[in-house]
Amino acid sequence: MFAILQDGGRNKGRFMDGNNKKRKRYGSQALGSRGPLDGSADEPMLLPNPMVGFSLPDQWPRPVNRDLPALAMGPPYFYYENVALAPKGVWTIISRFLYDIQPEFVDSKYFCAAARKRGYIHNLPLENRSPLLPKPPRTITVAFPHTKRWWPSWDPRQQFNCLQTCVSSAKLLEKIRVTLTNSSDPPPPRVQKLVLEECRKWNLAWVGLNKVAPLEPDEMEFLLGFPKDHTRGICRTERFRSLGNSFQVDTVAYHLSVLKDMYPEGMNVLSLFSGIGGAEVALHRLGIRMKTVISVEKSEVNRTILRSWWDQTQTGTLIEINDVQTLTSERIEAYIRRFGGFDLVIGGSPCNNLAGSNRHHRNGLEGEHSSLFFQYVRILESVKSIQRL
Ligand code: SAH
Repeated sequence: MFAILQDGGRNKGRFMDGNNKKRKRYGSQALGSRGPLDGSADEPMLLPNPMVGFSLPDQWPRPVNRDLPALAMGPPYFYYENVALAPKGVWTIISRFLYDIQPEFVDSKYFCAAARKRGYIHNLPLENRSPLLPKPPRTITVAFPHTKRWWPSWDPRQQFNCLQTCVSSAKLLEKIRVTLTNSSDPPPPRVQKLVLEECRKWNLAWVGLNKVAPLEPDEMEFLLGFPKDHTRGICRTERFRSLGNSFQVDTVAYHLSVLKDMYPEGMNVLSLFSGIGGAEVALHRLGIRMKTVISVEKSEVNRTILRSWWDQTQTGTLIEINDVQTLTSERIEAYIRRFGGFDLVIGGSPCNNLAGSNRHHRNGLEGEHSSLFFQYVRILESVKSIQRL
């Protein structure tokens, strides 16, 4: 009877992680100690538990000893993001190519009502961070009070799992409804267990009697810190895909908040793999003026979303480019001459070959998409070397 409850399309959410006994030692080597890229020569990086990063809003900062090598210091500041739960060795390689800086692993469940485990490598100062206000709700019932009356006592979830790029089938939702309608109240433990498994896997919310549903795109926008209707106007599948890949704005803004006092006149930003503009929305919500943003994003749909948001909210210049591969050193130099240099290089390259939802092609950083990380490195190095002159 429950076979169908296992249905639901792609197997998601299982990751191999670097949870191993050995911790990488962070040296102060300059870029250059680059060995094989398959992770074979690397000790896996220990993921912190709890995944709270270097500090959280309203908590005493934990002492973090992070000496940046001279080569890594800003300006320009840089900020690189990817999934925390990448295959073994991946973060060690990413760190090695980014000046051996220790990644800041943060689960956005400490900022909003949904988990999002990400690693961030950046050279931003760590002191005097401040959160975006108002702080978003941290539990499902506060975020979506209308679900409270339908939430059964045997579903203990208070937060959603990581918001993904695709949603459950209608068939699964109907099967859950029929199963529960035909069960006792409360249902037998094994039914509870199976239903809960699916609810957790697909981030289902209780929206009626025995009725679960996936989050709507505007609910995902809310959880991720985007303005309402940010992605509206494109097809639902595309909205889910773009939102599933985006930054959690409150988390990223907390890290970027230190830039506000440093750039009272505004910043020039090179935004790589901009998606729907998580970085831009974070800077805007922090009240940091963007004088110029050069945004590189392959998806036309995403470029249109960013453009439309920009035209409604910004007075600076937005230049959109569609492929990082076409951003040559010559082009970078021309922009630097024209706009006077980049203050921030920010982006998270695609995780398609790293995250669990694409396990057939989880070939690490050498995968077709994930290797775009090396474009981030190339472009950052190019900006730094041009601006050093
Ligand atoms: N941080 C973004 C999302 C990053 S997801 C946000 O907040 O929305 C990675 C993005 O890289 C995707 O939007 C994808 O379309 C884009 N991308 C993939 N290949 C690319 C390429 N060759 N050049 C530029 N962007 C690319």
